[in-house]
This record gives sequence, structure tokens and C-alpha cells, in this order.
Amino acid sequence: MPVDKNQIIEKDKVVVEGIELTAEWNRMFAQRTVSNYDDSLMDQLTSIEGAESLGWCYQCGQCVPVCPVDAVGGDYGPRKIYRKVQQGINLLEDPDLWKCTTCSNCLRVCPKTVNMVEIMPALRGEAVMEGLDVPEELQEAFENTFEYGNPLGESQRKRADWVKETGSNVPIMKEIKRPVDVLWFVECYPSYHARGKEASAALARILNALGVDFGILGTEEKCSCDSQRLAGEQGLFEEFAEANIKTLGKYKFNKILVTDPHALNALKKEYPKYGGEYEVVHYTTFLAPMINQLEFKKTLNYKVTFHDPCYLGRHNGEYEAPRQILQALPGVELIEMGRCRQDSYCCGGGGGGMWLDGFMADHVQERLSENRVREAVETGAEVLAVCCPYEVSRFEDAVKSTGNEGKLIVRDIAELIVEAMG
Ligand code: SF4
Ligand code: SF4
Repeated sequence: MPVDKNQIIEKDKVVVEGIELTAEWNRMFAQRTVSNYDDSLMDQLTSIEGAESLGWCYQCGQCVPVCPVDAVGGDYGPRKIYRKVQQGINLLEDPDLWKCTTCSNCLRVCPKTVNMVEIMPALRGEAVMEGLDVPEELQEAFENTFEYGNPLGESQRKRADWVKETGSNVPIMKEIKRPVDVLWFVECYPSYHARGKEASAALARILNALGVDFGILGTEEKCSCDSQRLAGEQGLFEEFAEANIKTLGKYKFNKILVTDPHALNALKKEYPKYGGEYEVVHYTTFLAPMINQLEFKKTLNYKVTFHDPCYLGRHNGEYEAPRQILQALPGVELIEMGRCRQDSYCCGGGGGGMWLDGFMADHVQERLSENRVREAVETGAEVLAVCCPYEVSRFEDAVKSTGNEGKLIVRDIAELIVEAMG
């Protein structure tokens, strides 16, 4: 039923569209109706394309307990943001603009489909276009991407150097000059970051052991740019999407394999808008049905807990494949954390958070990755298994900063498979 903005609510509770609203909501709603808020700022922000749904919030509060930023003292979530804008705080010039990791947990529970995954890129994009302050670390990641093709600021010429360190056969498309079954889109962190490269080497060994016919783009590949898009750089994203689509158009393949859930999101959901239509699979989805074809020589004897990446789980619906793989490894006992699957907590790296650690430290009581590591340790697990290249380094840092060295190790699922292969 539509809410009458001019209605003053006198009862303790009211049911709107099947949702029982709280007494606090009633007080706030009544306060709003009698104090004549100036709606012009809300109207200005919600007129920006993509940000419309911010105005749909009716303050039911269901998003508050699921927001990972609020959980670490960030005073956050769409309900609070709506309220601040209502009180005249201009989000475009406020630190709150940059705290959201676009984890999508609020959207999961919101009865009004207030969508921060669309609101945040739209408002951040507006701030970028207006030349307003962008946190320094994020600006550096944008500039690195623009200049070097990756947010780490590494040389494009070295994008395939990790291949030399693997000891495995990793065919490069422009060298082999033939169609392949699987085009592996490696992405930036698995190409350049020390821990990412170790996971890439592990995956290369697994693909070879399974006899997969694959190739990579090597130095022709550029960042998928999904996190930059979510952080407000739509223009950069479009430029990179078009470049990658053009490169992919040069080669013949049946499907694209990705290591990174952020690349999965970009190639599966965003690239089709620019003419790039592909079958795209995350490596866990690809490997799960074949996992029993591998020969395991070592029993791991680990208690393992698994962190669902936001962009694999909530954003792209894959919860089972990583678990199927872990449970197929000899000796692994899988223990779930309380916040798992659809309700999984966030590592803090999405939506540009990967490049905002210093900024976040000034605005929350502990990093999201630290909060998650504490939860993993509480399960009694010895290994925190991950399958997103942002997570290995984030969680390893958090293991150190929370004083849990020696209690918990962080491993990519590909690394655990290779360890079991012996
Ligand atoms: S954003 Fe959605 S869940 Fe949160 S308070 Fe508003 S209507 Fe309720
Ligand atoms: S998308 Fe995630 S981080 Fe952003 S407001 Fe919603 S729950 Fe909080």
C-alpha cells in the first residue's frame, strides 16, 4: 500500500506492504511529516541516473544489521544514508560516499529494492565528473589503470611474466594462433601480485593436469575495470571494456574462464552492453564437475572455513562449487562461519574498497577483513579458503594485524587443490 507522506502515525506500529515497521520508524516518519524537511537535496541526488532508488527507502531498518561497514562502527547502510541526506548532508561531498563496498547484502533484504550497487557508482561518478574530492589512494588506482592498464601500476609488458615462473604450459593466444576451448581471462592481481601469481600458477597446473585446451591473452589483456566502474569511473570502464572486447574478437574460443569474481561480473553482466557476449565461468564453477578426475596423493588433514566472495555469491549466485571442491579434497573438514552463503560478510575489497584501506582506517573501528578473520578463527578452522584474488592479501594482512599468525593460514582454493595433488 502506498505510504501517505502527510499522514501522522499515532499507533505503536504499522504494517506497510506486509512489513511491520518499528516504533522508531514511526517516530521518525511522524517527525518528518511535522517538521517539513527540505526535500531539494534528496530530489537532486535521486534525479541522477542510477541513484533513483535511494528515495524509495521507508526507513524500515532491515538493512542495518546486514551492512558490513556498519558492523565495524562505520555508522552506515542505506537507511542511515537516506536519513543523513534528509537532514541536509550532501553525500557527494561526504566520506560516506566512499565507504560502501557494493556488497549487495542490503539489497538482499530490502523490501523497497533500494540498490546501493547502482546508487553508489552513479553518485561517485557524479562526484568524479564534478571534480569533487576523491580519496587519494583511489585516485592513484584510477590513474594507474589509465596509464598502465592495471590498478597496481605495473608495466603492461610484464602482464604475462608470471607464466615464466609457473613451470607449467600456459599458451598465449597470439603465439599459438589457433582456436582454444577455454580462454582464461587472468585479470590484474593474478597477473602481478605475488600471492595472486601463486594462485595462477596453481590453476595453470590444474588445467594442464585435466588436459584442458586453454590459452591466455597475455600482454593483450587489460583490467576488466569492474571495481573502477563501481568506484565511479564509468568512462574508464567503457574504454577498457571496448579494448578487451576488441581483443577477444580476434580469437576463437568456446568459453571464458576467470579467476576473479570481479572480472566474472564485468564480462558476464556488463560487457554484453557493449557488444561482448560470452559464456563466462568462474574457475570454481569450471573445476567442480571435474574435481574427481584429479589424482590426489596427499591428505590435507585441515579444518577449513570458506569465505564467499560477494561478487561470486550474492552477485552471481555461485555458492556450491567452491564447497564441492573443498569437500572433495582428501582430509578437508569444512566448517561454515555463521555469516556464510547469501549472508556472507564482506572482505572490504569490492566497489573500490581494495584501494581505500587507509581512508577506511580513518572511518571505521576495524577493517572488514579483520572482522572476518576473527570470525574465521572463532570457528576453530586452521585454513581460511578463498577464491577471489583480492582476498588472499587482504586476509593475510588481517591475520597479522589481529595477532592470529600461527592460528590461521589463508589459501586460494586452487592452491589447496595443488597441495592435495602433491
Ligand atoms: S534501504 Fe530498504 S531495508 Fe534499508 S531502511 Fe530503507 S527500505 Fe528498509
Ligand atoms: S552494499 Fe553492502 S556495504 Fe554498501 S550499504 Fe549495502 S550492505 Fe552496506
